Formats: sequence, structure tokens, C-alpha cells
Amino acid sequence: MFTKTIDFSTYSSIRVGQPEEVLMIERGDEIPRDRHLIGGANNLLVSTTPPPLMMLSKDFAYIKESAGLLEIGAAMPTGRIVSYVKKHDIAGFEFCAKLPGTLGGMLAMNAGVKAYEIFNILHSIEIDGEWISKDEIAHGYRYAKLGGVATAARFEIHRGYSQVLNEELKALRANQPHDPSAGSAFKNPEGDSAGRLIEAVGLKGHRDGGMAWSEVHANFLVNQGGGTYDEAMRLIGLAREKVLSEFGVKLELEIKAL
Ligand SMILES: Cc1cc2nc3c(=O)[nH]c(=O)nc-3n(C[C@H](O)[C@H](O)[C@H](O)COP(=O)(O)OP(=O)(O)OC[C@H]3O[C@@H](n4cnc5c(N)ncnc54)[C@H](O)[C@@H]3O)c2cc1C
Repeated sequence: MFTKTIDFSTYSSIRVGQPEEVLMIERGDEIPRDRHLIGGANNLLVSTTPPPLMMLSKDFAYIKESAGLLEIGAAMPTGRIVSYVKKHDIAGFEFCAKLPGTLGGMLAMNAGVKAYEIFNILHSIEIDGEWISKDEIAHGYRYAKLGGVATAARFEIHRGYSQVLNEELKALRANQPHDPSAGSAFKNPEGDSAGRLIEAVGLKGHRDGGMAWSEVHANFLVNQGGGTYDEAMRLIGLAREKVLSEFGVKLELEIKAL
């Protein structure tokens, strides 16, 4: 293992944070228990005092086919997974196109688009060195109880990559803002949409310093330049408070604040 300085004001998709020393885990290392693992930081808000951090090194960025299964290392970026499955005509990963992150982040978040989620196509995950079948891992909408660090996952191979499905799912992103964000800030409450509720309480476009609830899609917290963690947390608190008092709905954060 070795340490690396990562500047979260450029590394994280929402461009919030500062340089932090991050422990890089290499193959064969014992994974520390007292550090928080990060992937591509596409779903993170890093505070000025984050917990000690660690990250999987490029040793965990690989794809191989063995015994009829596709095995992917957890540090593999989604863009490279999509290129691989396109080239080898493998179905099921079409929804990962334009979904930024690493495989590890996708597994921890059960990331997906509409009905397509990573757990739907999953066979098993290697967690802290042990292969665990997906049926043994509690999971749901944007949630999976991994209970440790995922270092790789296996998927059944079905031929027939669909470019049509890929294009359809990419088109759903047309209403997403281009400003830096960490994706949807809140999970959608059962039968409703967080964006609709934030808009209904009048916060669409509402700004605090450099951060704002996007004009394009109200559930996206966007950084319009020099935004800070405190500004982001104030906007999150305000949306929660107003949606609770006007609609009686408790919004649950999808973004992970560290
Ligand atoms: C513009 C934009 C659009 C987005 N659209 C979508 C979307 O349509 N659907 C969707 O689901 N998400 C979406 N997201 C959110 C994000 O893409 C996903 O949550 C993605 O899976 C995060 O991956 P990451 O590697 O960046 O994880 P990080 O943000 O680094 O981490 C997220 C969580 O995963 C945990 N984690 C990371 N790696 C591991 C590992 N190896 N083992 C155990 N835990 C781990 C971290 O501890 C953290 O709790 C979007 C984000 C952006 C910026």
C-alpha cells in the first residue's frame, strides 16, 4: 500500500473538497478496518474533516472471463466496462453507459437507471477476500449491505449487447444538468419523485453561495463555482425541512456525506 494526495475539488464529480491523503490498497494488502473506502467519488460530498480515506489501486481494475462468468475488479470504471461488453457482445450492462463511477461504487449503491440495476445482473461479489452469492446480500433501491470492501464481482455472460437499449437509457439523461453534481441528491420516495417535491416547495434554482438546486432538475445539487460542503449541507437541510413540513415526506439522502 502507498499514500496518494487526492484533491477532491477536482477529483469528485461535484468538485467539493480539498486535498486529502488517501491510502491506496494494492493486491495482497490487508484492508484496514478504520478507513472509509472511496471509488470514483461520483456520489460523494467530502467535508473539511472527512474520516481517514482509502481507495483500491489499479490492481483491482481488470476484466476477465472464466468458467462462463465475467469477473470485473471493483476499481474498474464503468466506461471501460461498457467498452468491453460492447466489443465482446455481452448483454445486461447497457444501463452503465454514462453512469459515472467504478464497479465498487455501483455495487455499494446498487446503482441503476429505472428498472435496470447492477444487482439484477450480478452473480456474486468478492467481499474482504470471500466470494458471496448475491442472494446472501441484502439490497434494494440504491442500497446494498456489502458489510465490507468489494474487490471484484462476477456476472453471468449472455450474448447480445443492445445498442438500442443503450441509446434509450442514455436519452433518459437529457434532463440532467451539465454543472458539476453528485447525481441525484435524494432517493425518490415511494411513488413520488424527490425532484418534484423540491420544485413544489419552491427550491428549484435556489442558491446558497456557489451551490444550488439545479434549474434543470431540482433533485440535482450543483456546484456553480467554488461551492462548499457547508453550503451543500444547508441546501440539503432546507429541502428536507420544507418537504417535511409541506408534504410530510422525509427525504432520504442518496449522496454520501463524509
Ligand atoms: C452526473 C451524474 C449522474 C448520475 N446518474 C446516476 C444514475 O442514473 N443512477 C445511479 O444509480 N447513480 C447515478 N449517479 C451516482 C453515481 O454515478 C453512482 O452512485 C456510482 O455508482 C458511484 O460510483 P463511485 O465509484 O463514484 O462511488 P463513490 O462515490 O466513490 O462511493 C459511493 C459509495 O460506494 C462505496 N464504495 C465505493 N467502492 C466500494 C467498494 N469497492 N466496496 C464497498 N463500498 C464501496 C463508498 O464507500 C461510498 O459509500 C450519478 C452521478 C453523477 C455525477
